[in-house]
Amino acid sequence: MMPAANLALGSVDRRLLIAAGTAAAALAVLTAGPAGAQDRLSIVTTIAQIGDLTSAIVGDAADVTILMGEGVDPHSYQHTRTDMVLLNQADVVIYNGLYLEAQMEDLLHHLGERKPVLAYAETLPEDRLLPSVDYEGRADPHAWMNARLWAEGVDDVVALLSEVDPDNAALYAANAEAYLAELDAIADYAEATLATVPQEARVVISAHDAFNYFGDAYGFEVLGIQGLSTESEAGLQQIESMIDLLVEREVGAVFVETSVADRNVQALIEGAAARGHRVAIGGELFSDAMGSAGTYEGTYVGMLDHNVTTITRALGGDAPAGGFQGLLGAAS
Ligand SMILES: [Zn+2]
Repeated sequence: MMPAANLALGSVDRRLLIAAGTAAAALAVLTAGPAGAQDRLSIVTTIAQIGDLTSAIVGDAADVTILMGEGVDPHSYQHTRTDMVLLNQADVVIYNGLYLEAQMEDLLHHLGERKPVLAYAETLPEDRLLPSVDYEGRADPHAWMNARLWAEGVDDVVALLSEVDPDNAALYAANAEAYLAELDAIADYAEATLATVPQEARVVISAHDAFNYFGDAYGFEVLGIQGLSTESEAGLQQIESMIDLLVEREVGAVFVETSVADRNVQALIEGAAARGHRVAIGGELFSDAMGSAGTYEGTYVGMLDHNVTTITRALGGDAPAGGFQGLLGAAS
């Protein structure tokens, strides 16, 4: 077995030497690609929430590239030519799935026939997934809004990476344990902090339907207003019933999102004002995208901290302005 393999490699080597003309070029070709002992694993993720956990797991032992940065809407995102190159070159691809990356779904499935491709949210316990608001029979993809549920997929990533790169398996397991402790801490903070919001005011009205897992985990009613047309009778009625809810329950704030523009927020504020109830914009929430890379809000913990702290403060609960660790807004 061994001599035959060596012989085969030898002949490939010689052919490459002739084709490439220089020994250096031939070596570069031979060391490119997956599974070489000296190679760093190259991992590509779609959304930054997955990039964050993957980076935490691999530390310095592998390269992680995130395709969808700040302010990007994954539902409508079309991959670029550069993305295609990155995806083709990657050793491992991790995406959310559950139809979040709707425009890339086919491409990712095809890629899965050639290399390890993991749909992170599809590894989560099925009985804890919520139904999709937009597609009948499908699950809601926004699972990262519930920190404890989101944490359930970390072990699957560790298992996959350890299979592809067994030399670093112990490192990946140790890093994952530390990351899970961080998720546990932010989940504790979210539960304790959001519980200070008066029961009546526990309503999150925001641009699109990204907060159902949040509502489910922390006991909030959640309403999305994207797609409601003020030009249709049904849309007007729904906006009217949201205004009723804001007025009757004295909810003081509605929210905007960083990755979604929505004019209907203004219609709600004006409608409530016309009935003598003041509603403020409670702040901007991170829904499908996180903050800028390199800032606290650009991490999963920082993103969730921002949302929890913003919602709590806007709806009459108690939360420190700097959030969980005093790090919020440090960049601004
Ligand atoms: Zn979304």
